[in-house]
Amino acid sequence: SQERNRKKNGPVKLTFEQIGGQDNAKRELREALDFLVRHDEINKFGIRPLKGILLTGPPGTGKTLMAKAAAHYTNSVFVSASGSEFVEMYVGVGAGRIRDLFKDARTRAAKENKQSAIIFIDEIDVIGGKREGGQQREYDQTLNQLLTEMDGIYSNEAPRILIIAATNRKEMLDSALLRPGRFDRHIQVDLPDKKGRKHILELHAANKPMAAEANLDKLAEEAYGFSGAQLESVMNEAAIYAMRQDEEVISQRHMSMAIDKVMMGEKTDRESSA
Ligand code: ATP
Repeated sequence: SQERNRKKNGPVKLTFEQIGGQDNAKRELREALDFLVRHDEINKFGIRPLKGILLTGPPGTGKTLMAKAAAHYTNSVFVSASGSEFVEMYVGVGAGRIRDLFKDARTRAAKENKQSAIIFIDEIDVIGGKREGGQQREYDQTLNQLLTEMDGIYSNEAPRILIIAATNRKEMLDSALLRPGRFDRHIQVDLPDKKGRKHILELHAANKPMAAEANLDKLAEEAYGFSGAQLESVMNEAAIYAMRQDEEVISQRHMSMAIDKVMMGEKTDRESSA
């Protein structure tokens, strides 16, 4: 698990340039992050510190990448957890895990001499889902602990703490999470348009031998509706086809086959889970 932690929380070098498409989301996120960077001015104007940013949108569109790029952009330490880790935890364990997450962020920032820390919580809906009819749920303690930690963040504290959460089910979130001073800044991370898809394909083709005739523009057109994660898969599958056929480079044909494969894969996934 140390290896896993290193991977999850180790040095972050991912930049916004490595994220394809998502121009609006990237701009909005950078604007929000300037609140963390320009904290002296924020204090001077008596502006409430930004504590929570919610990234919303379908799976595989780059929300995790955005959070990592945010840490790089603000020179913050990056610690992360996923809502799914909290499923079936005994009462109290989840709350403890949240407490540790914040403690970790502060300790690491001090150790690495960083002025700020970003805590990323993926699948926030798992711990922050709506409470129905006032009924107590096993995750309530976890959610309450998160709210307590957020309320305990002060603008003049060192390190400054920002929480970025991601969900693809924003409408499921408990309104307590969305109040001012909590996750009050929302950024939509949509499926990429054609230009975005081309950009993402280019990024994932950069380390691969591509045929001179390879046309990523055409491929982006064919990949209508694909997410960034699916596009990454397409380039990877295309490379596998090329290698299996003992070819030197990846051709348009390999990429078209890969599109079909990724599309079929999604379909059978959905059919088997239905
Ligand atoms: P989920 O909601 O399923 O957690 P996510 O929105 O957090 O998904 P990521 O984990 O950021 O998605 O993306 C998964 C992978 O897909 C990335 O590691 C990357 O390889 C690829 N990818 C997704 N979006 C992009 C993008 N905009 N640019 C480049 N690569 C992308």
